[in-house]
Amino acid sequence: MSDSQHIDTILQHAGTARFDPETGVAPVNQPAVRASTVRFRDLSALEDAYRRKSAGERAITYGRAGMETHLALETIFKQLEGGTHCYLSSSGMASNTLVFLALLSAGDHALVADCVYGPVRELHDAVLSRMGIEITYFSPEADLESLVRPNTRLLYVESPGSLLFQMLDMPALADFARRHGLVLATDNTWGSGYVYRPLQLGAQVSVIAGTKYVGGHSDLMLGAVITNDDQLAKRLSRTQYALGYSVSADDVWLALRGVRTMPIRMTQHARNAMAVCEWLATRPEVSRIYHPAWRHDPGHALWQRDATGSNGMLAVSLKLAPAAARRFVEALQLFGIGFSWGGYESLVQLITPGELSKHTYWQEGDLAAVRLHIGLEDPKDVIADLEQALRAAAST
Ligand SMILES: *Cc1c(COP(=O)(O)O)cnc(C)c1O
Repeated sequence: MSDSQHIDTILQHAGTARFDPETGVAPVNQPAVRASTVRFRDLSALEDAYRRKSAGERAITYGRAGMETHLALETIFKQLEGGTHCYLSSSGMASNTLVFLALLSAGDHALVADCVYGPVRELHDAVLSRMGIEITYFSPEADLESLVRPNTRLLYVESPGSLLFQMLDMPALADFARRHGLVLATDNTWGSGYVYRPLQLGAQVSVIAGTKYVGGHSDLMLGAVITNDDQLAKRLSRTQYALGYSVSADDVWLALRGVRTMPIRMTQHARNAMAVCEWLATRPEVSRIYHPAWRHDPGHALWQRDATGSNGMLAVSLKLAPAAARRFVEALQLFGIGFSWGGYESLVQLITPGELSKHTYWQEGDLAAVRLHIGLEDPKDVIADLEQALRAAAST
């Protein structure tokens, strides 16, 4: 495989199954290789595998770390992000957790962007704080220099941010992290390595919830941590091993199946979301659209500079009273009410004032906000659905 190939090409050919040396045949998609115990041909095969493992290479030694199926998906994540090491987890959140536990020790301090995926705060409250790890949540607009302490080790961000899709200036953050000797880690579930590649913009660690666009069908849980730094890789690898992380071969197999079509799915999600933005912009109930590919989004210039595409996620602030906003959400027919996203179907979530208050990017007081995932339905039908739901909301 050559480095000059387009990622769409690589995604169709990376991690395909090897030919059986005896029969000379192979399936196209990797089978789900389920295993706990691994058998070795002889002791020297076992010793060789362990030698490679202790040298930091990926070797198959036991089912917990995964078999060929897992290796294939790791290869694909590395290709997507342009990284050299990949560690799988059983969920995106488990990957977020792996990063914090691998990179921080008791007495350390981390700077975390206030637009980060909400449950990361719970990781801090429930676990990290008990271990004497301190976190300062910062507004990405703030002057970070004054927030750095002698024990600050990690700068943890998400771009675009959760809920409101605030674009961060990743190269500037990378520059800041380098000057202060901090590791820059980022949650890249939004871009999934396909439309946004933080390791190429100076981050050292990237997290993808494969549950979203990689899986693409709302039927699996999976996460990955990718890095291009050998020293950080050692810490991630040891921590992943010590925590006993393991991912079902069946979920990995579903992710492998999903990721092959990610180029066409994400492109279509983005196209449909843009059609919805165009329509929302004509509506008097809409105060603002949060979607960095949308030309009026404040992050649009950064998006143009740093991203190569978009997806189906957007948020909208609505000039609706709380009861009318609830009516709007419940009147939608094509949108499921639910968390998560990245599947083929449209989803809606009413963002609570409590969640909004944690994001300094939110400056619209008590206006209602909804997050929409625009699925692969025909956008005309999606728009008709939104229109009838706004009508229903007006009648409350
Ligand atoms: C969904 C999500 C996660 C968590 O992934 P799960 O697989 O649901 O645990 C982490 N970060 C972001 C940005 C997400 O959207």
